[in-house]
Amino acid sequence: MNLTALSAFETAQKVRAGELNANDLAEAALAQIRAIDGVPGSLAPGILESAEEQKVHAFIQVTEELALSQAARVDRKIAEGEEPGALAGVPVSIKDIFCVEGTTTTAASRTLANFIPPYTATAVQRLVDAGALILGKVNLDEFTFGSSNESSAFQPSTNNPWNTDHVPGGSSGGSAASVAAQEVALSLGTDTGGSIRQPAAFCGVVGLKPTYGRVSRLGLIAFSSSLDCVGSLSRDVRDTALMLQVMAGSDPKDSTSSTRPVGDYLSALQQDVKGLRIGLSPDYEAVYYPDFESGAVHSEPVQKEVRDAVLRAAETLANAGAEIIENVPMPNTRYGIPVYFVISRVEAASNLHRFDGVKYGYRTSAEINDLNDLYRLSRGEGFGPEPKLRILMGMYLSAAEHASNFYQKALKVRALIRSDFENAFDPEGDYWLDALLTPSTATTAFKRNAVLGNSVLMQYSDQMTVASNHAGVPALTLPGGLDESGLPIGIQLIGSDFGEDTILRIGHAFEQLSTSETWRSEKPQVLQGEVKA
Ligand code: GLN
Repeated sequence: MNLTALSAFETAQKVRAGELNANDLAEAALAQIRAIDGVPGSLAPGILESAEEQKVHAFIQVTEELALSQAARVDRKIAEGEEPGALAGVPVSIKDIFCVEGTTTTAASRTLANFIPPYTATAVQRLVDAGALILGKVNLDEFTFGSSNESSAFQPSTNNPWNTDHVPGGSSGGSAASVAAQEVALSLGTDTGGSIRQPAAFCGVVGLKPTYGRVSRLGLIAFSSSLDCVGSLSRDVRDTALMLQVMAGSDPKDSTSSTRPVGDYLSALQQDVKGLRIGLSPDYEAVYYPDFESGAVHSEPVQKEVRDAVLRAAETLANAGAEIIENVPMPNTRYGIPVYFVISRVEAASNLHRFDGVKYGYRTSAEINDLNDLYRLSRGEGFGPEPKLRILMGMYLSAAEHASNFYQKALKVRALIRSDFENAFDPEGDYWLDALLTPSTATTAFKRNAVLGNSVLMQYSDQMTVASNHAGVPALTLPGGLDESGLPIGIQLIGSDFGEDTILRIGHAFEQLSTSETWRSEKPQVLQGEVKA
């Protein structure tokens, strides 16, 4: 049996039944990481040979001892007849933006390169309590600012397992790549504008951004607090449901976590899609972006193969009894990125104030004369270019004389974006949708270095995902095909508030209905040539 190819669901089932032991699973994951991951990301990577450069490089830190001790605990529980948990023996990676007590938590920034938090994030703790094995911390764009993983201060940055000349997407690129490359079964990520769904789509895996507040943010290093969501990456929808089941629910230590009862996500998967109303919107057929010189707005249609995959999925679901509702208007979607620029920068600049070299994080070793110098040099040396840009923009936009021009206006447009979803899902409205079906990204994974350095263009790769962050609604991406060059295509299902059960149910049905499609049997480049027992 190829242990690293097993789903989380199958793994836990076999461990709980005594057919597999957690120690073997930890060892198999460690062996896979050693075989294909290459050197971990570091602040001083040196020059890499080309074979080394082509490796996955998902990990910043492999936590071998931790994984093995967690495995021993699961195996001991089984031996003693104790309940080992719903994720018993399941290998997991953690985006390095979550605090895990006793391990460095870097946010992929020089600022936090040596930071060892004194506590563990709630979401991570719930995974561990359910018997998961933490294999390590995975790479991301610095402070989650980016869409390609390339802005990490820890290099080499992660490659796309399907074609290592391409980026894995970002900011949860290490998470998506580690799952696609079968180094782990599950990964914990964050999504502020698309950071789970865009890399999941680029790497051909499933990614869920839950409803805002469904999963606790305690122990997550904050980017934009009104948009940040904690979610999952996995290889199939059932694993996504299982992981959400374990993590969801209120947390007394996060006042924005919802106290609403948690649904039964795994049971929801048993229902089919008959009678469900699934919408398609013309507002998800193109991306709109400004000409950087003139400011004029251009539109570019979504890559044809991506569009075709969405239509194919709609047809598959219609054949299974779903009702497809065309032409659902989502007219404010196109303002998602401009609004995000304002809100996320203002909140990021505010959240990054705490990294000042005084209490924790990087402190300059230069000679300083006063407190100002300490702040200026510590922040100047610690932050990379992307956080600096965002701090500058956030400070500018939130200056008293600008607040009503930008921030207040952005909040109003955000409310309009949300009203599009409210109208589309309103049971008494014209559409009463159960879900909206859209592309996850406008294109498949771009080449390394193709967009790096153009912070604005990079941002526009979140056009299909960011509206659901503004609205707070849940959204799921899952594989929907491959393009002509063999790169994965993601399709997205957006639900109403706390409607995770419905989008998971539709996603799972689509997976079942498309198992015999040829693209389903293709494997990422880094897994080809492996002997499968
Ligand atoms: N790519 C987006 C950005 O650069 C989204 C990041 C995220 O969701 N954390 O801000």
